[in-house]
Amino acid sequence: MIIMYRTHTCGELRIDNVGNEVTLSGWIQRIREMGGMTFIDLRDRYGITQLTFNSSVNEELNQEARKLGREYVIQISGEVIERSSKNNNIPTGEIEIKVNQLKVLNASKTPPFTIENETDGGDELRMKYRYLDLRREPILEKLRLRNKVALETRKFLDSNDFMDVETPYLIKSTPEGARDFVVPSRMNPGEFYALPQSPQTFKQLLMVSGIDRYYQIVKCFRDEDLRADRQPEFTQIDCEMSFINQEEVLNVFERLIKHLFKTCKNIEFEGDFPRITYAEAMERYGSDKPDIRFGMEFKNLNSVAKNKGFKIFDDAELVLGITAKECAVYTRKQLDQLTDWVKRPQVGAKGLVYCRYNEDGTLKSSVDKFYSQEDLKEWAETMEASPGDLMLVLSGSTDEVRSQMNDLRLHMGDELGLRNPNIFKPLWVIDFPLLEWDQESERYHAMHHPFTSPKDEDIHLLDTAPEKVRANAYDLAMNGVELGGGSIRIHDKQLQQKMFEVLGFTQEKAQEQFGFLMDAFEYGAPPHGGLAFGLDRLVATMGGSESIRDYIAFPKNNAGRDVMIDAPAPIDQEQLDELQLNIK
Ligand code: ASP
Repeated sequence: MIIMYRTHTCGELRIDNVGNEVTLSGWIQRIREMGGMTFIDLRDRYGITQLTFNSSVNEELNQEARKLGREYVIQISGEVIERSSKNNNIPTGEIEIKVNQLKVLNASKTPPFTIENETDGGDELRMKYRYLDLRREPILEKLRLRNKVALETRKFLDSNDFMDVETPYLIKSTPEGARDFVVPSRMNPGEFYALPQSPQTFKQLLMVSGIDRYYQIVKCFRDEDLRADRQPEFTQIDCEMSFINQEEVLNVFERLIKHLFKTCKNIEFEGDFPRITYAEAMERYGSDKPDIRFGMEFKNLNSVAKNKGFKIFDDAELVLGITAKECAVYTRKQLDQLTDWVKRPQVGAKGLVYCRYNEDGTLKSSVDKFYSQEDLKEWAETMEASPGDLMLVLSGSTDEVRSQMNDLRLHMGDELGLRNPNIFKPLWVIDFPLLEWDQESERYHAMHHPFTSPKDEDIHLLDTAPEKVRANAYDLAMNGVELGGGSIRIHDKQLQQKMFEVLGFTQEKAQEQFGFLMDAFEYGAPPHGGLAFGLDRLVATMGGSESIRDYIAFPKNNAGRDVMIDAPAPIDQEQLDELQLNIK
Protein backbone atom coordinates (compact mmCIF):
# COMPACT_ATOMS: atom_id res chain seq x y z
CA MET A 1 0.00 0.00 0.00
CA ILE A 2 1.51 3.31 -1.13
CA ILE A 3 0.76 6.12 1.31
CA MET A 4 2.76 9.20 0.35
CA TYR A 5 2.55 10.40 -3.22
CA ARG A 6 6.30 10.63 -3.44
CA THR A 7 9.51 10.36 -1.48
CA HIS A 8 11.55 12.15 -4.16
CA THR A 9 10.98 14.24 -7.26
CA CYS A 10 11.77 12.95 -10.75
CA GLY A 11 14.90 15.06 -10.87
CA GLU A 12 16.43 14.11 -7.59
CA LEU A 13 17.87 10.60 -7.54
CA ARG A 14 21.58 9.97 -8.14
CA ILE A 15 24.02 7.10 -8.05
CA ASP A 16 24.32 7.51 -4.26
CA ASN A 17 20.66 6.51 -3.93
CA VAL A 18 21.26 3.05 -5.39
CA GLY A 19 19.60 0.52 -3.13
CA ASN A 20 16.98 2.97 -1.80
CA GLU A 21 13.29 2.10 -1.91
CA VAL A 22 11.55 5.17 -3.36
CA THR A 23 8.16 6.40 -4.48
CA LEU A 24 7.77 8.82 -7.39
CA SER A 25 4.81 10.53 -9.01
CA GLY A 26 4.76 12.22 -12.38
CA TRP A 27 3.76 12.22 -16.02
CA ILE A 28 4.71 9.60 -18.58
CA GLN A 29 6.84 11.21 -21.25
CA ARG A 30 7.64 8.08 -23.20
CA ILE A 31 7.16 4.31 -23.13
CA ARG A 32 9.51 1.92 -24.88
CA GLU A 33 9.17 -1.82 -25.13
CA MET A 34 12.28 -3.93 -25.67
CA GLY A 35 11.76 -7.66 -25.56
CA GLY A 36 10.47 -8.53 -22.12
CA MET A 37 11.42 -5.11 -20.73
CA THR A 38 9.36 -1.92 -20.60
CA PHE A 39 10.98 1.48 -20.04
CA ILE A 40 9.09 4.57 -18.97
CA ASP A 41 10.45 8.10 -18.74
CA LEU A 42 8.68 9.70 -15.79
CA ARG A 43 8.66 13.49 -15.77
CA ASP A 44 7.87 16.29 -13.37
CA ARG A 45 9.03 19.91 -13.07
CA TYR A 46 12.33 18.78 -11.63
CA GLY A 47 13.44 16.27 -14.21
CA ILE A 48 13.03 12.83 -15.72
CA THR A 49 13.68 9.45 -14.15
CA GLN A 50 13.72 6.16 -16.04
CA LEU A 51 11.48 3.36 -14.76
CA THR A 52 11.93 -0.28 -15.72
CA PHE A 53 9.52 -3.20 -15.74
CA ASN A 54 10.71 -6.74 -16.40
CA SER A 55 8.35 -9.50 -17.53
CA SER A 56 10.58 -12.19 -16.05
CA VAL A 57 10.34 -10.53 -12.63
CA ASN A 58 6.68 -9.50 -12.70
CA GLU A 59 4.78 -10.28 -15.91
CA GLU A 60 1.51 -8.81 -14.67
CA LEU A 61 3.05 -5.45 -13.73
CA ASN A 62 4.92 -5.37 -17.04
CA GLN A 63 1.65 -5.87 -18.92
CA GLU A 64 0.01 -3.12 -16.88
CA ALA A 65 2.83 -0.72 -17.74
CA ARG A 66 2.36 -1.46 -21.42
CA LYS A 67 -1.26 -0.36 -21.24
CA LEU A 68 -0.33 3.14 -20.06
CA GLY A 69 -0.17 6.10 -22.42
CA ARG A 70 1.73 9.34 -22.82
CA GLU A 71 0.96 11.97 -20.16
CA TYR A 72 -0.76 9.53 -17.82
CA VAL A 73 -0.17 10.59 -14.23
CA ILE A 74 1.21 7.65 -12.30
CA GLN A 75 2.70 6.81 -8.96
CA ILE A 76 5.30 4.08 -8.61
CA SER A 77 7.46 2.50 -5.95
CA GLY A 78 10.59 0.52 -6.47
CA GLU A 79 14.28 0.18 -5.94
CA VAL A 80 16.91 2.58 -7.28
CA ILE A 81 19.44 0.63 -9.33
CA GLU A 82 22.47 1.55 -11.38
CA ARG A 83 21.80 1.78 -15.10
CA SER A 84 23.82 -0.42 -17.38
CA SER A 85 23.65 2.05 -20.27
CA LYS A 86 24.01 5.46 -18.70
CA ASN A 87 22.57 8.71 -20.10
CA ASN A 88 25.02 11.53 -19.50
CA ASN A 89 22.59 14.15 -20.80
CA ILE A 90 20.41 14.17 -17.69
CA PRO A 91 21.38 14.41 -14.01
CA THR A 92 19.43 11.24 -13.16
CA GLY A 93 21.02 9.38 -16.07
CA GLU A 94 23.10 7.01 -13.98
CA ILE A 95 20.17 5.33 -12.26
CA GLU A 96 16.76 3.84 -12.93
CA ILE A 97 13.91 2.52 -10.80
CA LYS A 98 13.08 -1.18 -10.78
CA VAL A 99 9.36 -0.77 -10.26
CA ASN A 100 7.44 -3.09 -7.93
CA GLN A 101 4.22 -1.09 -7.46
CA LEU A 102 2.29 0.98 -9.97
CA LYS A 103 -0.81 3.10 -9.57
CA VAL A 104 -2.53 5.20 -12.20
CA LEU A 105 -3.47 8.53 -10.58
CA ASN A 106 -5.06 9.89 -13.72
CA ALA A 107 -5.35 8.88 -17.34
CA SER A 108 -4.66 11.31 -20.16
CA LYS A 109 -5.94 11.82 -23.66
CA THR A 110 -3.19 11.62 -26.26
CA PRO A 111 -1.66 15.11 -26.19
CA PRO A 112 -2.07 17.20 -29.37
CA PHE A 113 1.71 17.53 -29.73
CA THR A 114 4.73 15.76 -28.34
CA ILE A 115 5.73 17.08 -24.97
CA GLU A 116 9.47 16.91 -25.36
CA ASN A 117 12.29 19.40 -25.80
CA GLU A 118 11.76 19.28 -29.55
CA THR A 119 8.05 19.30 -30.23
CA ASP A 120 6.02 18.79 -33.39
CA GLY A 121 3.44 21.37 -32.26
CA GLY A 122 3.09 24.64 -34.18
CA ASP A 123 2.80 27.99 -32.40
CA GLU A 124 -1.00 28.28 -32.43
CA LEU A 125 -1.49 24.73 -31.23
CA ARG A 126 0.99 25.15 -28.42
CA MET A 127 -0.72 28.40 -27.40
CA LYS A 128 -4.10 26.72 -27.35
CA TYR A 129 -2.75 24.01 -25.08
CA ARG A 130 -0.34 26.26 -23.26
CA TYR A 131 -0.74 24.26 -20.03
CA LEU A 132 0.78 21.29 -21.89
CA ASP A 133 3.45 23.41 -23.52
CA LEU A 134 4.49 24.54 -20.04
CA ARG A 135 5.36 20.92 -19.24
CA ARG A 136 8.22 21.16 -21.75
CA GLU A 137 11.66 21.75 -20.34
CA PRO A 138 12.68 24.60 -22.71
CA ILE A 139 9.61 26.60 -21.70
CA LEU A 140 9.94 25.74 -18.02
CA GLU A 141 13.52 26.91 -18.17
CA LYS A 142 12.31 30.33 -19.32
CA LEU A 143 9.81 30.59 -16.48
CA ARG A 144 12.54 29.60 -14.05
CA LEU A 145 14.73 32.42 -15.34
CA ARG A 146 11.83 34.83 -14.99
CA ASN A 147 11.20 33.71 -11.45
CA LYS A 148 14.86 34.15 -10.57
CA VAL A 149 15.08 37.60 -12.15
CA ALA A 150 11.95 38.76 -10.30
CA LEU A 151 13.24 37.35 -7.03
CA GLU A 152 16.68 38.92 -7.38
CA THR A 153 15.08 42.22 -8.37
CA ARG A 154 13.10 42.19 -5.14
CA LYS A 155 16.15 41.29 -3.10
CA PHE A 156 18.24 44.05 -4.63
CA LEU A 157 15.60 46.76 -4.41
CA ASP A 158 14.59 45.76 -0.89
CA SER A 159 18.18 45.94 0.29
CA ASN A 160 18.41 49.41 -1.26
CA ASP A 161 15.46 50.72 0.75
CA PHE A 162 12.87 50.47 -2.02
CA MET A 163 9.40 49.76 -0.68
CA ASP A 164 6.92 47.62 -2.60
CA VAL A 165 3.62 49.49 -2.82
CA GLU A 166 0.68 48.27 -4.87
CA THR A 167 -1.20 50.77 -7.01
CA PRO A 168 -4.70 50.33 -8.43
CA TYR A 169 -5.57 48.75 -11.78
CA LEU A 170 -8.91 50.49 -12.14
CA ILE A 171 -7.87 54.06 -12.76
CA LYS A 172 -8.25 56.97 -15.09
CA SER A 173 -6.35 57.17 -18.33
CA THR A 174 -2.55 57.76 -18.05
CA PRO A 175 -1.30 59.30 -21.27
CA GLU A 176 1.81 57.39 -22.31
CA GLY A 177 1.19 57.42 -25.99
CA ALA A 178 -0.83 54.24 -26.39
CA ARG A 179 -4.55 53.58 -26.32
CA ASP A 180 -6.13 52.63 -23.03
CA PHE A 181 -8.05 49.49 -22.27
CA VAL A 182 -11.26 50.61 -20.62
CA VAL A 183 -13.56 48.93 -18.13
CA PRO A 184 -17.19 50.02 -17.81
CA SER A 185 -18.43 50.82 -14.33
CA ARG A 186 -21.73 49.19 -13.37
CA MET A 187 -22.16 51.43 -10.37
CA ASN A 188 -21.47 54.54 -12.40
CA PRO A 189 -23.35 53.94 -15.64
CA GLY A 190 -21.81 55.54 -18.70
CA GLU A 191 -18.47 55.91 -16.94
CA PHE A 192 -15.31 53.96 -17.47
CA TYR A 193 -12.14 53.10 -15.71
CA ALA A 194 -8.95 52.80 -17.72
CA LEU A 195 -6.38 50.12 -17.01
CA PRO A 196 -2.99 51.70 -16.27
CA GLN A 197 -0.46 51.96 -19.08
CA SER A 198 1.90 52.23 -16.13
CA PRO A 199 1.57 53.36 -12.51
CA GLN A 200 3.25 56.63 -13.49
CA THR A 201 1.02 59.16 -11.73
CA PHE A 202 0.63 56.96 -8.66
CA LYS A 203 4.33 56.49 -8.14
CA GLN A 204 4.77 60.25 -8.36
CA LEU A 205 1.99 60.71 -5.80
CA LEU A 206 3.81 58.21 -3.57
CA MET A 207 6.82 60.50 -3.70
CA VAL A 208 4.62 63.38 -2.58
CA SER A 209 3.58 61.03 0.25
CA GLY A 210 7.20 60.70 1.30
CA ILE A 211 7.62 57.00 0.42
CA ASP A 212 11.05 58.07 -0.88
CA ARG A 213 11.88 54.85 -2.73
CA TYR A 214 9.11 52.86 -4.34
CA TYR A 215 9.07 49.78 -6.51
CA GLN A 216 6.53 47.36 -7.83
CA ILE A 217 6.60 44.42 -10.21
CA VAL A 218 3.39 45.32 -11.89
CA LYS A 219 1.13 44.61 -14.85
CA CYS A 220 0.66 47.41 -17.37
CA PHE A 221 -1.89 47.51 -20.17
CA ARG A 222 -1.53 49.14 -23.58
CA ASP A 223 -3.88 48.73 -26.49
CA GLU A 224 -1.25 48.80 -29.22
CA ASP A 225 -0.56 46.85 -32.37
CA LEU A 226 1.40 43.81 -31.35
CA ARG A 227 4.83 42.59 -32.35
CA ALA A 228 7.20 39.90 -31.19
CA ASP A 229 8.30 42.11 -28.32
CA ARG A 230 4.90 43.52 -27.38
CA GLN A 231 1.92 42.15 -25.50
CA PRO A 232 -1.27 44.01 -24.56
CA GLU A 233 -0.53 43.26 -20.92
CA PHE A 234 3.05 43.16 -19.81
CA THR A 235 5.04 43.45 -16.63
CA GLN A 236 7.22 46.29 -15.48
CA ILE A 237 9.75 46.61 -12.73
CA ASP A 238 8.52 50.08 -11.85
CA CYS A 239 10.61 52.35 -9.62
CA GLU A 240 10.63 55.89 -8.32
CA MET A 241 12.99 57.78 -6.01
CA SER A 242 13.00 61.15 -4.25
CA PHE A 243 15.83 63.63 -3.76
CA ILE A 244 17.95 62.20 -6.54
CA ASN A 245 19.46 63.44 -9.75
CA GLN A 246 19.79 61.60 -13.04
CA GLU A 247 23.29 60.41 -12.21
CA GLU A 248 22.09 58.71 -9.04
CA VAL A 249 19.18 57.03 -10.80
CA LEU A 250 21.42 55.63 -13.53
CA ASN A 251 23.84 54.46 -10.88
CA VAL A 252 21.27 52.53 -8.80
CA PHE A 253 19.73 50.82 -11.80
CA GLU A 254 23.01 49.99 -13.44
CA ARG A 255 23.81 48.19 -10.20
CA LEU A 256 20.47 46.40 -10.36
CA ILE A 257 21.14 45.15 -13.90
CA LYS A 258 24.64 44.06 -12.92
CA HIS A 259 23.23 42.25 -9.90
CA LEU A 260 20.68 40.43 -12.08
CA PHE A 261 23.25 39.30 -14.63
CA LYS A 262 25.61 38.19 -11.90
CA THR A 263 23.05 36.24 -9.88
CA CYS A 264 20.95 34.87 -12.74
CA LYS A 265 23.53 34.30 -15.49
CA ASN A 266 26.87 34.49 -13.70
CA ILE A 267 27.91 37.25 -16.08
CA GLU A 268 29.91 40.24 -14.89
CA PHE A 269 30.13 43.46 -16.85
CA GLU A 270 33.42 45.25 -16.89
CA GLY A 271 33.34 48.90 -15.89
CA ASP A 272 30.46 51.31 -16.28
CA PHE A 273 27.80 50.89 -18.93
CA PRO A 274 28.63 53.15 -21.86
CA ARG A 275 26.42 56.17 -22.48
CA ILE A 276 25.38 57.90 -25.66
CA THR A 277 23.13 60.88 -26.26
CA TYR A 278 19.96 60.36 -28.22
CA ALA A 279 21.25 62.69 -30.94
CA GLU A 280 24.45 60.69 -31.31
CA ALA A 281 22.60 57.37 -31.25
CA MET A 282 20.41 58.53 -34.10
CA GLU A 283 23.39 59.81 -36.04
CA ARG A 284 25.53 56.71 -35.62
CA TYR A 285 22.91 53.97 -35.53
CA GLY A 286 19.58 55.49 -36.62
CA SER A 287 18.03 54.02 -33.50
CA ASP A 288 17.38 55.06 -29.92
CA LYS A 289 18.21 51.51 -28.86
CA PRO A 290 21.40 50.71 -30.74
CA ASP A 291 22.75 47.20 -30.89
CA ILE A 292 26.42 47.78 -30.14
CA ARG A 293 27.47 44.15 -30.28
CA PHE A 294 28.90 45.08 -33.66
CA GLY A 295 30.20 48.19 -35.42
CA MET A 296 28.98 48.97 -38.92
CA GLU A 297 28.23 52.53 -37.83
CA PHE A 298 26.58 55.02 -40.14
CA LYS A 299 28.82 57.36 -42.09
CA ASN A 300 27.53 60.58 -43.55
CA LEU A 301 28.44 60.70 -47.24
CA ASN A 302 26.89 64.07 -48.09
CA SER A 303 30.21 65.78 -48.75
CA VAL A 304 31.60 63.01 -50.96
CA ALA A 305 28.50 61.71 -52.73
CA LYS A 306 26.53 64.82 -53.58
CA ASN A 307 27.12 67.18 -56.52
CA LYS A 308 28.52 64.57 -58.86
CA GLY A 309 25.53 64.51 -61.13
CA PHE A 310 23.66 61.63 -59.49
CA LYS A 311 20.27 63.22 -59.05
CA ILE A 312 18.96 60.87 -56.40
CA PHE A 313 21.82 61.71 -54.06
CA ASP A 314 21.83 65.38 -55.02
CA ASP A 315 18.16 65.70 -54.09
CA ALA A 316 18.52 63.75 -50.87
CA GLU A 317 18.77 65.42 -47.49
CA LEU A 318 21.12 62.70 -46.31
CA VAL A 319 23.30 60.08 -48.00
CA LEU A 320 24.33 57.41 -45.52
CA GLY A 321 26.66 54.48 -45.81
CA ILE A 322 27.66 51.43 -43.82
CA THR A 323 30.56 49.09 -44.41
CA ALA A 324 30.13 45.35 -44.29
CA LYS A 325 33.57 43.94 -43.57
CA GLU A 326 34.85 41.30 -45.99
CA CYS A 327 31.66 41.30 -48.03
CA ALA A 328 33.09 42.48 -51.36
CA VAL A 329 32.67 38.86 -52.40
CA TYR A 330 28.90 39.27 -52.36
CA THR A 331 27.55 38.06 -55.69
CA ARG A 332 25.26 40.05 -57.93
CA LYS A 333 22.44 37.79 -56.81
CA GLN A 334 23.11 38.48 -53.12
CA LEU A 335 23.17 42.21 -53.80
CA ASP A 336 19.90 42.00 -55.73
CA GLN A 337 18.40 40.17 -52.78
CA LEU A 338 19.61 42.88 -50.42
CA THR A 339 18.10 45.49 -52.71
CA ASP A 340 14.78 43.66 -52.70
CA TRP A 341 15.03 43.41 -48.94
CA VAL A 342 15.37 47.16 -48.41
CA LYS A 343 12.58 47.81 -50.92
CA ARG A 344 10.05 45.77 -48.95
CA PRO A 345 7.30 48.02 -47.57
CA GLN A 346 8.43 47.22 -44.00
CA VAL A 347 11.74 48.97 -44.74
CA GLY A 348 10.57 51.27 -47.50
CA ALA A 349 13.79 52.27 -49.29
CA LYS A 350 13.54 53.14 -52.98
CA GLY A 351 16.78 51.40 -53.84
CA LEU A 352 20.22 50.42 -52.61
CA VAL A 353 23.56 51.64 -53.92
CA TYR A 354 26.54 49.40 -53.32
CA CYS A 355 30.25 49.63 -53.88
CA ARG A 356 32.60 46.67 -53.71
CA TYR A 357 36.12 47.45 -52.58
CA ASN A 358 37.88 44.63 -54.35
CA GLU A 359 40.94 42.92 -52.90
CA ASP A 360 43.03 44.34 -55.78
CA GLY A 361 42.16 47.87 -54.66
CA THR A 362 39.70 48.64 -57.48
CA LEU A 363 36.22 49.86 -56.63
CA LYS A 364 33.08 48.69 -58.36
CA SER A 365 29.81 50.40 -57.64
CA SER A 366 26.27 50.30 -58.94
CA VAL A 367 26.63 54.01 -59.81
CA ASP A 368 29.94 53.89 -61.73
CA LYS A 369 28.44 56.23 -64.35
CA PHE A 370 28.57 59.11 -61.88
CA TYR A 371 31.57 58.35 -59.72
CA SER A 372 35.21 57.93 -60.68
CA GLN A 373 37.62 55.62 -58.88
CA GLU A 374 38.90 58.68 -57.00
CA ASP A 375 35.36 59.58 -55.91
CA LEU A 376 34.78 56.05 -54.69
CA LYS A 377 38.11 56.09 -52.85
CA GLU A 378 36.74 59.08 -50.96
CA TRP A 379 33.67 57.10 -50.10
CA ALA A 380 35.88 54.30 -48.83
CA GLU A 381 37.90 56.70 -46.70
CA THR A 382 34.79 58.26 -45.21
CA MET A 383 33.33 54.84 -44.55
CA GLU A 384 36.57 53.38 -43.21
CA ALA A 385 36.35 50.60 -45.77
CA SER A 386 39.36 48.50 -46.76
CA PRO A 387 39.96 46.20 -49.71
CA GLY A 388 37.63 43.23 -49.38
CA ASP A 389 34.79 45.26 -47.87
CA LEU A 390 31.37 46.11 -49.21
CA MET A 391 29.84 49.58 -48.88
CA LEU A 392 26.07 49.94 -48.79
CA VAL A 393 24.50 53.32 -49.33
CA LEU A 394 20.99 54.71 -48.88
CA SER A 395 19.65 58.21 -49.32
CA GLY A 396 16.55 60.23 -48.57
CA SER A 397 15.14 62.46 -45.88
CA THR A 398 17.10 62.27 -42.65
CA ASP A 399 14.49 60.44 -40.59
CA GLU A 400 13.59 57.98 -43.31
CA VAL A 401 17.08 57.10 -44.35
CA ARG A 402 18.20 56.62 -40.75
CA SER A 403 15.36 54.28 -40.03
CA GLN A 404 15.95 52.30 -43.24
CA MET A 405 19.66 52.11 -42.61
CA ASN A 406 19.00 50.92 -39.07
CA ASP A 407 16.95 48.06 -40.52
CA LEU A 408 19.64 47.26 -43.04
CA ARG A 409 22.41 47.40 -40.45
CA LEU A 410 20.58 44.97 -38.14
CA HIS A 411 19.79 42.73 -41.09
CA MET A 412 23.46 42.64 -42.11
CA GLY A 413 24.36 42.00 -38.48
CA ASP A 414 22.06 38.97 -38.53
CA GLU A 415 23.33 37.79 -41.92
CA LEU A 416 26.93 37.99 -40.81
CA GLY A 417 26.30 36.36 -37.43
CA LEU A 418 27.36 39.48 -35.52
CA ARG A 419 24.40 39.45 -33.14
CA ASN A 420 25.36 36.66 -30.80
CA PRO A 421 22.50 36.24 -28.29
CA ASN A 422 24.96 35.15 -25.62
CA ILE A 423 26.83 38.44 -25.69
CA PHE A 424 25.21 41.29 -23.78
CA LYS A 425 25.98 44.93 -24.53
CA PRO A 426 24.13 47.45 -22.38
CA LEU A 427 24.04 51.11 -23.27
CA TRP A 428 22.43 54.11 -21.60
CA VAL A 429 20.80 56.45 -24.07
CA ILE A 430 20.45 59.90 -22.48
CA ASP A 431 19.27 63.41 -23.32
CA PHE A 432 16.15 62.40 -25.21
CA PRO A 433 14.22 65.25 -26.78
CA LEU A 434 11.34 66.39 -24.60
CA LEU A 435 8.88 66.56 -27.46
CA GLU A 436 8.24 65.06 -30.83
CA TRP A 437 6.14 66.52 -33.58
CA ASP A 438 3.14 64.45 -34.55
CA GLN A 439 2.26 64.84 -38.20
CA GLU A 440 -1.23 63.47 -37.84
CA SER A 441 -2.50 65.59 -34.96
CA GLU A 442 -0.24 68.50 -35.96
CA ARG A 443 0.98 69.09 -32.47
CA TYR A 444 3.80 68.15 -30.15
CA HIS A 445 3.62 64.95 -28.15
CA ALA A 446 5.69 64.16 -25.11
CA MET A 447 8.42 61.82 -26.27
CA HIS A 448 8.46 60.05 -22.91
CA HIS A 449 5.42 61.27 -21.00
CA PRO A 450 4.13 64.70 -19.96
CA PHE A 451 5.71 64.51 -16.49
CA THR A 452 9.28 64.42 -17.78
CA SER A 453 11.33 67.46 -16.90
CA PRO A 454 13.16 69.53 -19.51
CA LYS A 455 16.82 70.24 -18.95
CA ASP A 456 17.18 73.49 -17.00
CA GLU A 457 19.39 75.01 -19.64
CA ASP A 458 16.82 74.29 -22.37
CA ILE A 459 13.69 75.56 -20.62
CA HIS A 460 13.98 78.95 -22.34
CA LEU A 461 13.47 77.18 -25.69
CA LEU A 462 10.02 75.89 -24.73
CA ASP A 463 8.32 78.82 -26.43
CA THR A 464 10.67 79.48 -29.30
CA ALA A 465 12.03 76.10 -30.39
CA PRO A 466 10.24 73.35 -28.47
CA GLU A 467 11.70 70.62 -30.69
CA LYS A 468 15.18 71.54 -29.46
CA VAL A 469 14.39 71.09 -25.78
CA ARG A 470 16.19 68.12 -24.28
CA ALA A 471 14.69 66.15 -21.43
CA ASN A 472 16.19 64.58 -18.34
CA ALA A 473 15.14 61.28 -19.81
CA TYR A 474 17.09 58.08 -20.27
CA ASP A 475 16.67 54.57 -21.61
CA LEU A 476 18.68 51.44 -21.07
CA ALA A 477 19.19 49.59 -24.32
CA MET A 478 20.75 46.17 -24.69
CA ASN A 479 21.38 44.23 -27.89
CA GLY A 480 19.01 46.43 -29.86
CA VAL A 481 16.23 46.13 -27.29
CA GLU A 482 14.87 48.89 -25.09
CA LEU A 483 14.99 47.30 -21.65
CA GLY A 484 13.57 50.28 -19.84
CA GLY A 485 13.53 53.97 -19.41
CA GLY A 486 12.55 56.82 -17.23
CA SER A 487 13.14 60.41 -16.36
CA ILE A 488 13.57 63.05 -13.72
CA ARG A 489 10.09 64.46 -13.26
CA ILE A 490 8.67 67.91 -13.12
CA HIS A 491 7.81 68.63 -9.48
CA ASP A 492 6.72 72.20 -9.89
CA LYS A 493 3.10 73.02 -10.65
CA GLN A 494 3.91 75.99 -12.89
CA LEU A 495 6.31 74.05 -15.06
CA GLN A 496 3.90 71.14 -15.26
CA GLN A 497 1.17 73.51 -16.39
CA LYS A 498 3.51 74.99 -18.98
CA MET A 499 4.25 71.50 -20.25
CA PHE A 500 0.55 70.72 -20.67
CA GLU A 501 0.19 73.98 -22.55
CA VAL A 502 3.01 73.09 -24.96
CA LEU A 503 1.32 69.72 -25.46
CA GLY A 504 -1.83 71.50 -26.53
CA PHE A 505 -3.96 70.79 -23.45
CA THR A 506 -6.38 73.56 -22.56
CA GLN A 507 -6.25 74.51 -18.92
CA GLU A 508 -9.65 72.87 -18.35
CA LYS A 509 -8.56 69.66 -20.03
CA ALA A 510 -5.34 69.55 -18.03
CA GLN A 511 -7.25 70.20 -14.83
CA GLU A 512 -9.82 67.54 -15.68
CA GLN A 513 -7.22 64.89 -16.48
CA PHE A 514 -4.41 65.72 -14.11
CA GLY A 515 -5.89 68.07 -11.56
CA PHE A 516 -5.16 65.50 -8.86
CA LEU A 517 -1.46 65.48 -9.67
CA MET A 518 -1.12 69.23 -9.99
CA ASP A 519 -3.05 69.70 -6.76
CA ALA A 520 -0.72 67.25 -5.05
CA PHE A 521 2.26 69.21 -6.30
CA GLU A 522 1.01 72.16 -4.22
CA TYR A 523 1.59 70.23 -1.01
CA GLY A 524 5.33 69.90 -1.06
CA ALA A 525 6.33 67.57 -3.88
CA PRO A 526 9.97 66.54 -3.48
CA PRO A 527 12.28 66.49 -6.50
CA HIS A 528 11.93 62.98 -7.85
CA GLY A 529 12.53 60.66 -10.76
CA GLY A 530 12.60 57.03 -11.68
CA LEU A 531 12.32 54.46 -14.36
CA ALA A 532 10.69 51.23 -15.35
CA PHE A 533 12.14 48.10 -16.91
CA GLY A 534 10.06 45.80 -19.03
CA LEU A 535 10.41 42.52 -17.14
CA ASP A 536 9.30 40.39 -20.09
CA ARG A 537 11.85 41.99 -22.41
CA LEU A 538 14.59 41.95 -19.81
CA VAL A 539 14.11 38.23 -19.19
CA ALA A 540 13.79 37.42 -22.89
CA THR A 541 16.99 39.35 -23.62
CA MET A 542 18.79 37.58 -20.79
CA GLY A 543 17.50 34.30 -22.21
CA GLY A 544 18.89 35.24 -25.63
CA SER A 545 15.54 35.60 -27.36
CA GLU A 546 13.83 38.42 -29.21
CA SER A 547 10.37 37.09 -28.56
CA ILE A 548 8.88 37.81 -25.15
CA ARG A 549 6.01 35.39 -25.59
CA ASP A 550 7.80 32.29 -24.42
CA TYR A 551 8.76 34.07 -21.23
CA ILE A 552 5.13 34.73 -20.31
CA ALA A 553 3.18 31.83 -18.86
CA PHE A 554 -0.05 32.66 -20.65
CA PRO A 555 0.65 35.05 -23.53
CA LYS A 556 -1.65 36.46 -26.18
CA ASN A 557 -1.19 36.01 -29.91
CA ASN A 558 -0.52 38.76 -32.44
CA ALA A 559 -4.19 39.58 -32.68
CA GLY A 560 -4.29 40.13 -28.91
CA ARG A 561 -6.21 36.89 -28.39
CA ASP A 562 -5.76 34.33 -25.71
CA VAL A 563 -6.53 31.29 -27.85
CA MET A 564 -6.53 28.99 -24.84
CA ILE A 565 -9.38 30.61 -22.93
CA ASP A 566 -10.72 32.19 -26.13
CA ALA A 567 -10.67 35.80 -25.07
CA PRO A 568 -11.77 38.44 -25.82
CA ALA A 569 -15.32 37.14 -26.18
CA PRO A 570 -18.82 38.61 -26.37
CA ILE A 571 -20.68 39.03 -23.10
CA ASP A 572 -24.31 38.22 -22.28
CA GLN A 573 -27.07 40.67 -23.01
CA GLU A 574 -27.77 40.64 -19.30
CA GLN A 575 -24.28 41.86 -18.53
CA LEU A 576 -24.56 44.53 -21.21
CA ASP A 577 -27.87 45.70 -19.76
CA GLU A 578 -26.43 45.88 -16.30
CA LEU A 579 -23.64 48.06 -17.63
CA GLN A 580 -26.12 50.04 -19.69
CA LEU A 581 -24.15 49.36 -22.85
CA ASN A 582 -25.34 48.85 -26.40
CA ILE A 583 -23.18 47.18 -29.03
CA LYS A 584 -23.17 49.30 -32.15
N1 ASP B 1 6.14 55.08 -16.76
C1 ASP B 1 7.25 55.05 -17.67
C2 ASP B 1 7.04 53.97 -18.71
O1 ASP B 1 6.22 53.10 -18.54
C3 ASP B 1 8.54 54.78 -16.99
C4 ASP B 1 8.98 55.89 -16.13
O2 ASP B 1 9.03 57.04 -16.58
O3 ASP B 1 9.32 55.60 -14.97
O4 ASP B 1 7.71 53.96 -19.71
